[in-house]
This record gives sequence, structure tokens and C-alpha cells, in this order.
Amino acid sequence: MKKIYSNNNIALVWHVKNMLEHQGIEAKTRNGSLYSVAGELPVTECMGEVWVVNALNYQTAERMISEMELASLAEFDAWVCHVCHEEVEGSFAVCWNCQAAPKEPATGVTE
Ligand SMILES: [Zn+2]
Repeated sequence: MKKIYSNNNIALVWHVKNMLEHQGIEAKTRNGSLYSVAGELPVTECMGEVWVVNALNYQTAERMISEMELASLAEFDAWVCHVCHEEVEGSFAVCWNCQAAPKEPATGVTE
């Protein structure tokens, strides 16, 4: 067992656990506050934690979590491909359908 992630947002803790298990990585959650007396401890002691059961999965899990965190930092709105006009999730850098990159902001061109 190795601790991979902690956050005081329990929903995110569960999200990470589910994401790891979806990829076949066995994970467990722990709530730091279960082991402490409420009100007398720093906030970090009350964080939810995700532990990977098999330490061999640690690096994979770590990479998935950092990718998830990057993706959630970049919460772009969905965009419409200018080539095939499909709607593309904001987290995709290119069109899922035709691999076109999003159109640069128009310079001197009006549609
Ligand atoms: Zn496209």
C-alpha cells in the first residue's frame, strides 16, 4: 500500500479512486480524519487519501493523476471544428474526428 493522492475534496478523492480502478489499478480510500480528533488537527490531517494497493502501479497511477490535474486546470469550453464542424470536448487539443487543430483567432478574416 502506498499513498498516491490526498485532497480535502472528498469528491475528487473518490474520482481518483474510480479512475484508477477503471484502469485496473486497485486503490483504496482513507479518510485522515477517521484517525484523529476533529478540531484539533491541521487541515491536512482531515484530507481524504487514495492509496494504491500494489506499489508497482504507483508510477502509472501518479502519471494518470497528474494528467487529470492538468486536464482539470485547463477547463476549456467545447469548441467546434472549423474543418468538419463536429463539436470537440475542451480537453482535446485536436479534433477527435479529423485531427484538425483548433482555428487560431482570426486575424483580419471575418466569416
Ligand atoms: Zn474536425
